[in-house]
Formats: sequence, C-alpha cells, structure tokens
Amino acid sequence: MAELKIIAVDEISRAALLIKRGAQSCIQEAAESALVETCAVTRAELDELKQAITEWCGLQVIAYYDLPTASWVFIALHDMTLGPAVGGCRICTYPKPVDAARDAMRLAEAMTRKWAVIDSDFGGGKSVISIARPLAGAERAGLLERFGQLLENLGGIYQTGEDLGTSPSDMAKMAEATRYVHGFDRATGRPLDPGPFTALGVLVGIKRSLQHFYNDAAPKGRTILIQGLGHVGGPLARLLQREGAQLILSDIREERMKELAQELGCLMVEPETAQATPCDVYAPCAMGGMLSRQAVSSLRCNVVAGAANNQLEDAEVADLLHERKILYAPDFVINAGGAISLPLLHKGASEREASERVEGIARTLGQIFEEAAGLNESPLHAAERKAARVLARARSRSLLEASTFVPAAKDS
Ligand code: NAD
Repeated sequence: MAELKIIAVDEISRAALLIKRGAQSCIQEAAESALVETCAVTRAELDELKQAITEWCGLQVIAYYDLPTASWVFIALHDMTLGPAVGGCRICTYPKPVDAARDAMRLAEAMTRKWAVIDSDFGGGKSVISIARPLAGAERAGLLERFGQLLENLGGIYQTGEDLGTSPSDMAKMAEATRYVHGFDRATGRPLDPGPFTALGVLVGIKRSLQHFYNDAAPKGRTILIQGLGHVGGPLARLLQREGAQLILSDIREERMKELAQELGCLMVEPETAQATPCDVYAPCAMGGMLSRQAVSSLRCNVVAGAANNQLEDAEVADLLHERKILYAPDFVINAGGAISLPLLHKGASEREASERVEGIARTLGQIFEEAAGLNESPLHAAERKAARVLARARSRSLLEASTFVPAAKDS
C-alpha cells in the first residue's frame, strides 16, 4: 500500500483530494484509483461524496484522508462575506465518508447564520474528522497535529475551535502546529472551554424566552428539563439551579446524570422519556436532530431553548412547534455564547467583557421573538431573515467599496 503523507496543502491536493465547488472535480482518474486503493472507500462512495460536495451551496470543501489513522477530514467553507470561516472541529464516527462531509456542510451553513445573526465579522465554516475507531494517545495527537498543519497551510481562511468529540486539550495539541485555533490561550497556555460561555448564553436565552412566553423572565419555580449534561448542559444546570429553577436532568451517561442530580438535589429522567416529560422549558443540550415531527408531537413543554446544534430534523419542524404554541428559541442564536466569546478571548478580551457580549444574546432573541410574534410565525423564520439581512448588507457594502466609479469629466 502506498504511503500517503498528509503534511502540506500541495501534497494533500496531489495525494488526496481538494474539491472546489463549481469547478470540475480536481480528482483526476489516477488520483481517484489511488484513493480507492488507499482510503478504504469504494468508487461508488467516492462518486456519492463528489456529488454531495458539488451540489452543495457553499464555497468549498477541503477533504483529505489521514492514512496513519484511517480518518477522513472535511473542512467545509460555506460563506466568507463577513470574514474568514470560523467554526468548531467535530470528531465522530460516521457510517460513510459522505455522511461526515454532509454533516460538515450542514454545520458550516449553520455557522454562517450564527455569525450573521450576532453581527460578527466571521464567515461560516466547520470541520469534521470521521474516525474509524476510538483514537487516544500518540495516534490522536498525530492526527490533531496533522490537522493543525493543514489549517496553518490554509493561511487562516478557516479557523477552528472545540465541538462535539473534541476538548480543550485537543485544541492545545492542534495549536502546536497552527495559529488558527481558538479555545486555547497562547499567552498563558490555558485551555479556554467555550462550554460555560455557551451555557451563559443559553441561560439568558431561557430567561428571555420565559419573559416572552410567561411575561416573567425568572427561572425561579419553573420546571426546566436539560437533556445532555456535558460541557454545556452541566454548567447550565448549575446556573439554573442558582436561579431557583426546578431542574430535571437526563443523560445517556447514567453515572454522570446521577452524580449531577445528587449534587444539585434534583430529579432525573431516562433519555427515552425526556421529551414526553411535562416541564416549562425543554433544553436540548445533546446531539443535533433530536426534534423530529414525532418528537414534537410528544413534547409537553411551553418553550424549547437549548444548546444543541441543528436541533430540528428539518425547518418544517419549527412550524409544527409554532402550531403547537411551543416557543422555539432558534438554536444558532441561543447557543452562540461560545462562538462569541472565544474569538474575543483569543484577541485578549477579559472574561467579563466576553460574558457581557454573550449576554447580548437575550436582546437579539427578544427582537427575533417580537418580529415573529408580529407575523404569527416561528422565530426560526425571523432569525433566518435577520441573518440574511446582515449578509445582504455586507455584500452590498463590499460591492460599493469595490466599485471604482469616477464621474466623467463634463464637456467644456
Ligand atoms: P458534550 O459532548 O460535552 O455533551 C453532550 C452530552 O449529551 C454528553 O453528556 C452525552 O452523554 C449526552 N447525550 C448524548 N446523547 C444523548 C441523549 N440522546 N440523551 C441524553 N443525553 C445524551 O457536548 P457539549 O459541548 O455539551 O455540546 C452539547 C450540544 O451543544 C452539541 O449539540 C453541540 O454541538 C452544541 N454546542 C456546544 C457548544 C459548546 O460550547 N460546547 C457551543 C454551541 C453548540
């Protein structure tokens, strides 16, 4: 088997694949057969991958196969109108490479909306590393370092941070090879965990949702069910408990659930029955796609406000929630706390300054709820319109700046 070195972009593009949307696929016949041989992928899977990427509405997908760990890496760049693409790096196992690529593309689109809706100067991007088996120690470190080298070679068009399946120590490892990692303080060597900032954003978002639904923002006495008690759900539970909420916790990791429920003195519920459990607020803080049509019909809450990315199986689910009179806080708005804070901290802002910016999520959500209420529609539509307005304004600004209109001299 030929050795596939993944070190520099020029080698990646020769040895693996670099697919540009709109352009003819860069995979040449020779490279393609080499890929089939070396990358544990069938020709049909490769065709499926190329088709999914060329059909995508984003800018570019950079893909490579990491031979030492048999992992696929996809960096999806969706829109860079507002600035360089910034979005977390997810490490998961997917059935096929195309599933990982699709996840990266979907998440990158969500990042474009997220940055736009909070008036940030970043574009939408995301990376997904699809691992064939759990990786630890030197194997994991090697993969992260090669990924860091790739980011460095891309020169900052894509910058990353923590996401599902990655930790601050993974960010620290990547940062040994690149400057383009957020979530890691180079000056102090301290990892920066976005989880507590995301949790703070969800807390203020829940309060704003309560204000809208009950005309009373206080979580005190409200029953709030948190599904998923990881980097975000854990700190969120503690914040809400301090505000006097009646918490119900749920996690597939039973030990974790019991430990936290004992610490906070609150109830637990099995993940299978969480969505049908009566509560005021249901806060999904685990995987995406948890709100299917069926799940929405079983909900017994008044508000859905949580951290998980891409909570809705599809956009129509937002209309179902609206029909059921359940207020939905759009995920890409309410979960933007980590995204807001890490670049600020990276630039040297204090934690207090970052927290103040995160608290601005409440104002943005308030505007979205008001606009949606005025039109009797789901807040998802109002949030998407706000993001589209910001992008359209930025595009017309850059068109104006690019135009070199010089008035013609008058005839004498
Ligand atoms: P995490 O991996 O630290 O925690 C996820 C938790 O959910 C784990 O404890 C896991 O056991 C649990 N879980 C998984 N499936 C479950 C199920 N079906 N029912 C109950 N529990 C389940 O992840 P995280 O960083 O806390 O992120 C949670 C969600 O929020 C993800 O969707 C992530 O994309 C999103 N998000 C996270 C951040 C962040 O700052 N970490 C920012 C924005 C969005």
